[in-house]
Amino acid sequence: MGPFRTFAILAAVGALVTAIALPAFATGAPVAASAAQTTQKLAADHAQSIVVASEATAPTATRSAFTATTPEEIAAKKAEEEAAARAAEAAAAKAAADAAGAATASVRSGMPTIAQPGQVIYPMVGGSYTLSDGFGAARSGRSHMGQDFAAPIGTPIYAIADGCVTTSQSDYGGYGETIVLAHPGLSGANAISTLYGHMNYGSRAVGVGQCVTAGQYLGEVGNTGWVSGSCLHFEVMVNNVEIDPLAWLQSNVL
Ligand SMILES: [Zn+2]
Repeated sequence: MGPFRTFAILAAVGALVTAIALPAFATGAPVAASAAQTTQKLAADHAQSIVVASEATAPTATRSAFTATTPEEIAAKKAEEEAAARAAEAAAAKAAADAAGAATASVRSGMPTIAQPGQVIYPMVGGSYTLSDGFGAARSGRSHMGQDFAAPIGTPIYAIADGCVTTSQSDYGGYGETIVLAHPGLSGANAISTLYGHMNYGSRAVGVGQCVTAGQYLGEVGNTGWVSGSCLHFEVMVNNVEIDPLAWLQSNVL
């Protein structure tokens, strides 16, 4: 569902941009109006439509359409052309601003990705969790190899970086509902992976082999597996060895 929704939003934004931008550019290039135009005329119209978008070069636009003969008429015609160029520029700027606004609104209205590709983020949104047991906390049999993010059941969990799903399992030993991501883009010489454990029953949104982007929704906080209270159990592994995930996040999240 996630990728489809993302695609639908991008398609909608693309359609919006096209719908707004086309009239702005079309005004400077009435190319389709006459089939009898010469190649040179077509080129001039085309050049003019591009020049209009650039403030630096707009005043040098081709004057081939002048019918004025006196200096006064030429000055008036020139002013008229420059006003038209400024209007086209303003329309193009407005179209760009509208498109940017629409994209921002889409993000706010529940688009499942909350980060840019390549970025490293925390697995949960600030304010939605409390840091509880950390790396190395005492456990019976072994020490705690992750960082717990305590939060109510149902709180969203996100991929901390671009990666691909290597485990998506309902009963991953003591971790309960668990997702593991490999992050080849972060690795350099080392293999880095992240684990998201104790997730809510049936909430895993991605399957093995699927690749995700930073900030993509993975599922909900739960209390599955060996845990008391609901939390995300989050691990970072470097070459399959757990390291302190909170320290790693603190040094990698910009
Ligand atoms: Zn834990």
